[in-house]
Parts: sequence; structure tokens; C-alpha cells
Amino acid sequence: MTRDSKLCIHTITTKPWPIEVAMDKYAAAGIGGITVWRQALEGRDIAKVGDDLRSRDLEIVSLCRGGFFPNKTPEGRAAASEDNRLAIREAAALGAPMIVLVCGAVPGQPLAESRKQIADGIAAVLPLAEEHGIRLAIEPLHPMYADDRSAVNTMASANAICDLLDHPLVGIAADVYHIWWDPDLAEQIRITGEKDRLFAFHLCDWMTPTTDLLNDRGLMGEGCIDLKGIRAMVEATGFTGFNEVEIFSKRWWSADQDEFLARIVGAI
Ligand code: ZN
Repeated sequence: MTRDSKLCIHTITTKPWPIEVAMDKYAAAGIGGITVWRQALEGRDIAKVGDDLRSRDLEIVSLCRGGFFPNKTPEGRAAASEDNRLAIREAAALGAPMIVLVCGAVPGQPLAESRKQIADGIAAVLPLAEEHGIRLAIEPLHPMYADDRSAVNTMASANAICDLLDHPLVGIAADVYHIWWDPDLAEQIRITGEKDRLFAFHLCDWMTPTTDLLNDRGLMGEGCIDLKGIRAMVEATGFTGFNEVEIFSKRWWSADQDEFLARIVGAI
């Protein structure tokens, strides 16, 4: 099978497989990249996992995930900062050049305050990211997650934080699941590319009806997202990164994972 150098799979997509199985399956399927979720590394020697991935010619695209910066207390924010520092060290040990940030939100705390804490939180860990050369990709999340998962819900909001921090290591992970509905999407993707901060492109689909707000994402083509259209917007910026398949789906996790992987390869 010819290797699709632009196809990357997030380990969470095939959650039933431990990373040792996933890496063999992805490599055998000709997949070029892998994004590693931190829970897949639990109990492992992270540097060895990195070596094992590279020995299978899997490019490590990113580590998922850091973030969750906002908190009502200074102690909570300090703990979040420490976890993000740990994520940066883990990325460095793994050999991942980038961390995806799910930025966080606190129910009842004004979103503007959470956004400020997010910008401050990223600024605080930037020196360590610089030390290791790790890029930090802010992933805007769909507004249905604005209560407790992210106060950054649009590309424009993510771009505003990037503008504020104005740092080459701070950019955006554009995930179709979160941004497909945005009337300003084309313009925002164009601006993001122009400012050299389109760091990642995540793919899945939106199911109708969606039965679970977290774990009912679709395989590309199963849902209603204009994937071709969004991919054209991304490619028009000169983006040469990976098409990263990130599907949380109880339905697919309970299916045969070999068959699922074959469907993914066929869908992209
Ligand atoms: Zn994503």
C-alpha cells in the first residue's frame, strides 16, 4: 500500500487500541502521521514510544492536549500552568513538535475573564515552549462547549489571542467539527494562513441528530460538514500539514477497529 504522507490519525480515534497496537496498524495501513493523546502514554516510557513511532516512519504531528487554563482560584490556575509545563516536557520527550490546546472555561465565570486567563496562561508557559521549540495550537471549540471546555469558540477568537501574544510558536488548530458552522470561516482561515499560524487541520463529521455532545462524531462523509469546501479553504492558504482524523465516537469505538481504520483510509 502506498503511504499517504498527508494522513494522520489521532490515537483517540482508535481508542480501544493501545498505542503499541495503533502504531503497527497505522504503519501497515500506509498512514504517514500520528497525533498522540496523553492518556495513550500513561505508564509508558515516553521517549521510547517516540522512537518506536519514528522507527515505523510515523511522523509525530502533535501531542493532545494541553490547556484548561481558566480557574476561579490562583491555585487552580497555577495547577493548570504546571500541567501545561508537564505537557510541554512530554512533547519534548516524545519528539512532538506541537501541543494542541483545549483552552478551558469555568461555568459561571464570564467568558471574557476566561479568555484573559487563557491568554495569560499561554504566555506563562511560552518560555518553556521556546526552550523546547514546541508550537502551541489553540483549538477553537464549538460554542456548545463554552460552559466548561473552552471560552475560545471561533477562529476569530483564537486569532485575537494569537494577535495579543504575537509569537511564532502560538497558532491555531482548525477542527472542522468546531468551526464548520461559522459564517466567517473562509475569511478567518485566510487570515490565519496569512499570519502563518494555521498549525493543524482536524477532520471528522457532524452527525444529525447528534446523540452525545462529546462522543458522537462521524466518519468523514457520514455527516453534514462541507469537508471538501473547508479543505479547499485550508489548502488555499498554502497549508501543507497533515489531514488529521480525530473521531470520538462510542459507535465506532464499539466497532471492529481494523474495519474502522480501513474506512478512514478510504474516506480521506
Ligand atoms: Zn481537534
